[in-house]
Amino acid sequence: MSETYSTGRRPVWCPGCGNYAILAAFKKALTRLGLEPWKVVVISGIGCHGRVTDYLRTNGFHTIHGRVLPLATGIKLANPELVVVGFSGDGDAYAIGLGHLPHAARRNVDVTLIVHNNMVFGLTTGQATPTTPLGVKTRSTPRGNVEPPLNPILLALASGATFVARGFTGDIEHLAWLFEQAIRHKGFAIVDVLQPCVTFYNTYQYFRERVYKLEDEGHDPGDYEAALKKALEWGDRIPIGVFYRVSKPTYEQLLLRQKEPPVKVEPVDVTMFYELFR
Ligand code: SF4
Repeated sequence: MSETYSTGRRPVWCPGCGNYAILAAFKKALTRLGLEPWKVVVISGIGCHGRVTDYLRTNGFHTIHGRVLPLATGIKLANPELVVVGFSGDGDAYAIGLGHLPHAARRNVDVTLIVHNNMVFGLTTGQATPTTPLGVKTRSTPRGNVEPPLNPILLALASGATFVARGFTGDIEHLAWLFEQAIRHKGFAIVDVLQPCVTFYNTYQYFRERVYKLEDEGHDPGDYEAALKKALEWGDRIPIGVFYRVSKPTYEQLLLRQKEPPVKVEPVDVTMFYELFR
């Protein structure tokens, strides 16, 4: 039952916001996985998405801007038995927090990152983010955005993420299926979710007319080169689904294999440096 994971609080998001679909799909995924609420830790950053921890009856940590992945990594290392899921916005994950993404991906930490990618800073009334498309007029780009947008799927693939997917909030069932697979995956999983901000950048119609499912067209998620090719597809047709999936040892497995005691470091006499600069 999805209600097992509800705190009962009423979300404060704008009516029609894509965040509702992400919340509903996530609860469906947890239900299907049969996870006990105490076994799950959710971490959120700053942005409209950040309230998600208030609505989920799991362990939760609403952290500072852009720091979802360091928190998620630390929690997973402290207790590898926990299921750790980070929620982040496109501003949170791909702007201020971007430095953490390639490293969590290449280390293959066993956490899932769900990015509410609405392509604007919704919480601060709709300024441009790194994923705002070219030419789009926002509060901070009144004459149209001149910065080419970042491609999160390509970035995740290039960084070594072992599970890379894209979902759309217009299809909750499909999104729940993606979340379920991402959580089941042993290693770093990212699901970039096309999540229209109905108030400041309503892209529902745009995406409805363009998205198609990779699995319907025989895409092989084990084929890295095919995934790279699909990551570059953006225009009249936009793929959603699992781009890439591969099995590799996780960061915590590799660390736990190092059974030797910590390396002993001899103390160093630093007084000579004082003499040098006297
Ligand atoms: Fe959702 Fe946009 Fe409203 Fe934020 S401002 S709650 S992203 S619709």
